[in-house]
Amino acid sequence: MEKQTHKFERFYNYQNYQIIDCQTCGFRHLYPFPTESDLQRFYHDQYFREIKPFPYETVSPEFIAKQRQDALVNPNYLEIYNQVVGYIWTNHLKMVDVGCGNDLLALVFREQGWQTWNIEPNRDAAAYLAKYQLEVINQPVEAIIDFGLKDISFINLQFVLEHIREPETVLKFFNQIMVSGGVIRISVPNDFSEGQLAYLEHYGREPKWVNVPDHINYFTFDSLSRLLERTGFKEVYRTTNFPLELLLLAGKDYYHDEQERVQVGPFVRNFEMALFKTGRSSQLKKLYESLAAQGLGRCIYMYAVKE
Ligand SMILES: [Zn+2]
Repeated sequence: MEKQTHKFERFYNYQNYQIIDCQTCGFRHLYPFPTESDLQRFYHDQYFREIKPFPYETVSPEFIAKQRQDALVNPNYLEIYNQVVGYIWTNHLKMVDVGCGNDLLALVFREQGWQTWNIEPNRDAAAYLAKYQLEVINQPVEAIIDFGLKDISFINLQFVLEHIREPETVLKFFNQIMVSGGVIRISVPNDFSEGQLAYLEHYGREPKWVNVPDHINYFTFDSLSRLLERTGFKEVYRTTNFPLELLLLAGKDYYHDEQERVQVGPFVRNFEMALFKTGRSSQLKKLYESLAAQGLGRCIYMYAVKE
């Protein structure tokens, strides 16, 4: 299924990898692709670094009950829910959260009468989700093809698309199992944005946001929007989060300076809380929307509708 040729003129080097500006795919990606053994080794290490520290075996029924309660009033989940029902024009209340890790967004939808599925390849995370009586498919994202899901009206892909070898094939498949007027929400890092390119060119640095070998694809707002269009979706909304590239451009190089790096989290939190606590969340929301309109901001949050 893989395209035999990936045409490109521009490319970037990072460690032993090459990120090409692929004219065939319309977005940047690693090329040659990482080998299966590269990826297996990586995910094995990541499992012990990131997944294992979560005490899956020892979660108590009280912990689950508390998490469930918190999820139902989680402002991020509620915002997603409200946004989705605002765009949707279908009565099929079926949602799939793909590669969700420990995320409990599906609980909010289920509470509103939706039928939900969680697709999560990690066995421990899948077992954890099952403790909430969620319908969990413990398989890689690509395996969704075999599960006979149909008439889906909302698909959530949170930080998944950058990891997938054939995002176009997967999006086309999602499009086929969705109803017309259904909504897809995608979040991915905003990589090689104009702000980041200015940093590379002005400071002569390397693209440290490249994450090898697990991040295969590197999207900008526009390349993601075009990919959605090619796979049968129409973008209806985009926003971002704090534009970390502004720090890089201002000389606060948190990629190379440990002192700067530890300050990034508090800096962003202070900024957002100052607006939030003084009743200016709507200004913050508009600020991030207007940055996204210019292709800036660290991450891409995009909603699109199946036409
Ligand atoms: Zn390509």
